[in-house]
Amino acid sequence: MSWKVHKFGGSTLFDAHCIELLANRFSPNKNEPAMIVVSALKGVTNLLQELIDLAELNKESFLTYKAIRDKHIEVIRTCLGSDQVASFLSQLDNDLNTIRALLSTVKEIKRIPSHNLDKILGFGEIWSATLITEYFRSVIPANDVMYVDARDFLVTQKTEMGVMPLWDESAKLLEHKLLDTSCSIYIATGFIAKNKSGIQCTLGRNGSDYSASILALLLDADELTFWKDVDGVLSADPRIVPEAKIIQELSYNEAMELSYFGAQILHPKTMMPAITKSIPIRIRNLFNGDYKGTVIKATSRNDQLIIKGVTGIDKIALITLSGA
Ligand code: ASP
Ligand code: MG
Repeated sequence: MSWKVHKFGGSTLFDAHCIELLANRFSPNKNEPAMIVVSALKGVTNLLQELIDLAELNKESFLTYKAIRDKHIEVIRTCLGSDQVASFLSQLDNDLNTIRALLSTVKEIKRIPSHNLDKILGFGEIWSATLITEYFRSVIPANDVMYVDARDFLVTQKTEMGVMPLWDESAKLLEHKLLDTSCSIYIATGFIAKNKSGIQCTLGRNGSDYSASILALLLDADELTFWKDVDGVLSADPRIVPEAKIIQELSYNEAMELSYFGAQILHPKTMMPAITKSIPIRIRNLFNGDYKGTVIKATSRNDQLIIKGVTGIDKIALITLSGA
């Protein structure tokens, strides 16, 4: 089977129109299943963090709860049917009550335990993946779409390099999870995972890109596409160099060099799983869907002939280490 993995970040998920654009990119094809990894709706993880911060300061958080609820309601009212809206809202309200309960103890202990923090921050991805799954079920045959909760297969541990997957365990669990399914569209939660004891954790802020790359490796995907709100990787920071252009092809090394030295592409750690299996990485714009964006792969055209991009980092001391 030839898997394609797609990642949609918060910057591409802010209203019902975005969800429709996303779904329009896919048509069911069982020989080419799509694993679609999603972030929380834009701003939701920050709002969840705000709930935690307010609780630690013992401050009123009514408006923040309301903002989270309103953001989701605005999207689902436009893109889901009334039964789906009702069931989503009941899940959302349940989860918001769980968050209230988790935060109610903070008053006494002043600081939230890290597993509770991870539990709370991870709700955004569960909500967005749920509502996107429901939307797909309303536009293609429902049994062709599967919701994939990353906590069912992605086992991680904390290392000096940050949170890292336990590859063998995760691969076995994912294989088992997908064993009896033959859907063409899979919607997976980015960012969240579990540890060896089965307790929910996260891959760290902005970790959904890493989730997608991990899935690309686990599925031995043909391609990994990051959908963003920009056309691809630029040759320079357009705020400083207005004539910066989209770079059409980069090698893995070039992309890593650019990102080590300040370009906002993908975190080098994020690219590693895909690089391990030589999976081409594409960066494309959901809002300019015909444009093919930037492709990052093992070798690129004109590898040694031209300067691909220029980056700069302000006001830092830099130590260069080589290796992955
Ligand atoms: N939603 C999480 C965050 O905002 C993860 C992600 O978007 O990559 O950090
Ligand atoms: Mg993000």
